[in-house]
Amino acid sequence: MSEPVSSMVDLRRHLEAHLRSLRSAGIEWAPRGDKLAAKARPVPAVQPATAPTHVASIDAEPEETDSRRQELGVLAAEVAKCVRCPSLASTRTQTVFADGNPHAELLFIGEAPGADEDAQGKPFVGEAGQLLNRILAACGLTREDVYICNVLKCRPPGNRTPLPDEADNCKGYLERQIELVKPKFIVCLGSSAATQLLGPIKPLGQMRGRFHDYKGIPVMVTYHPAYLLPHRSPDKKRDVWEDMKSLMAKLGRPIPEKGAASAE
Ligand code: SF4
Repeated sequence: MSEPVSSMVDLRRHLEAHLRSLRSAGIEWAPRGDKLAAKARPVPAVQPATAPTHVASIDAEPEETDSRRQELGVLAAEVAKCVRCPSLASTRTQTVFADGNPHAELLFIGEAPGADEDAQGKPFVGEAGQLLNRILAACGLTREDVYICNVLKCRPPGNRTPLPDEADNCKGYLERQIELVKPKFIVCLGSSAATQLLGPIKPLGQMRGRFHDYKGIPVMVTYHPAYLLPHRSPDKKRDVWEDMKSLMAKLGRPIPEKGAASAE
């Protein structure tokens, strides 16, 4: 029996938003229905009843042979349908999965998407994101050299701090991202990320400046770029720069001569 026209229009709109969300997350392909159906957890509340499990290949590119990207694509597809936090799922424009290179040695974790990120489907694209870009540039890095994600994949209304149950709901996605990317180092940007990875922490100022451990991966804790903006605590930029220098030294990467100046 053929679908009513309105259902088909809704289905197309949902699928287009879903594919845009995947593309924003850096996922340039999506698995065929059999793989997705086998691996994705069914969460029917957000998908229209008529939605198939098949997700067409974006831009009809040849099947990707990079299994890490494939696994991340499956995970991003699962996240895009997630409604474990009903209030966040009902207010988000889209989920914000990640940005950057799935093969990066450095993985950055922030707190949650803000308004700009929610609109664009990418983490760290607002004012704080611009500052993060400058910090990376000061280290001789671009966003394509690192992997960037958040504790929460959905925007908390009003940019409030994630609630403990929301962070718990989303924890498995972050853990899986780390497992798949296999970074050499993790940088927790702010206390939400540090608490999610390391458990209850001391004040952030006492956690920064040294390496912690997450499942054998060294973790640097430093201030979130939003905390460094002019109306908050720009004087802490110096501390972040010291943390990044320690990290680059551990990675064996030379810092560009004008790095400190460009981080300001
Ligand atoms: S924040 Fe995470 S767990 Fe909660 S609805 Fe969004 S994707 Fe799901």
